[in-house]
Amino acid sequence: MSLKSVFAALLALSPAALLDPALAQDAMQEPGITFQSTELAPGLYMLEGVGGFAGGNLGLLFGEDGAVLIDDGLPPLTDELLEAIGKLTKEPIEFLVNTHVHGDHIGGNEAFGEAGATIVAHDKLRERLAAEGMTTATGQAPAPEDALPVVTFSDSVTFHLNGRSAYVFHVERAHTDGDAVIHFRNDNVIHAGDVLFHSLFPFIDLDSGGSVKGFLAAQKRILALADESTKIIPGHGELAGKADLAAAIAMLEDSLARVRTLVEAGKTEAEILAANPLADYHDDWNWGFITTERMTKTLVRELTE
Ligand SMILES: [Zn+2]
Repeated sequence: MSLKSVFAALLALSPAALLDPALAQDAMQEPGITFQSTELAPGLYMLEGVGGFAGGNLGLLFGEDGAVLIDDGLPPLTDELLEAIGKLTKEPIEFLVNTHVHGDHIGGNEAFGEAGATIVAHDKLRERLAAEGMTTATGQAPAPEDALPVVTFSDSVTFHLNGRSAYVFHVERAHTDGDAVIHFRNDNVIHAGDVLFHSLFPFIDLDSGGSVKGFLAAQKRILALADESTKIIPGHGELAGKADLAAAIAMLEDSLARVRTLVEAGKTEAEILAANPLADYHDDWNWGFITTERMTKTLVRELTE
């Protein structure tokens, strides 16, 4: 099943299930969701759910100094996730890095925190998580003490483990206001979190401090780190490369320019939606969660608020 059809099947159950761990739980009960692992470098893997929607893509680095996990998916799937990790390494998860505050990426925080992992995230993520709980499509889910990061950073932090370095840096007001991107410098691998949706219109969470302008700036910052052989783990979608990221930037910049022309001509949101300026991106980028209409509305809001 393709990613788009998995989402379509899930959204047929509930339009809110994508980000909401509680609502997604029913969908998760369908048998057969497992995590597939792809080796990107020795001891460095991308993990992605197959057989149903399992949350965002994860990263796993391990070796004699222990294991580091990037994001932890939806809580109903923590056992499946642990099983998949257990097949790769017996090292316990020493550190857990959160890319952003959405429930489909950090829903497993409590379980990993309880098990002894040190959770690391941007300052803003912890602030939001402590004050408002976890962001889901239908509102906020409370975050217990064990789910909170215990180490936070404002700009960047670097891990030196297993003979390599992982540079974790903040990108301002992008997908949310607490995003982290991870650059495994020795391995030419980048975990972009939801700063990249591969071949899907991106979700840019304006309500959680994200912005289209910041999102594009963050994507360009990642692009500048990449070369032709860089492997980029997107928040959603298949493993990407520099060309995929460049295509996503080109699409979003052009979409923003198209909507800006209409906004500057004094068109209302209704008139802009009727004009459908993103029509020719529809076939390649539209999906159940971020439709062409929803993407257009986000761009209008960015330009008018
Ligand atoms: Zn997200």
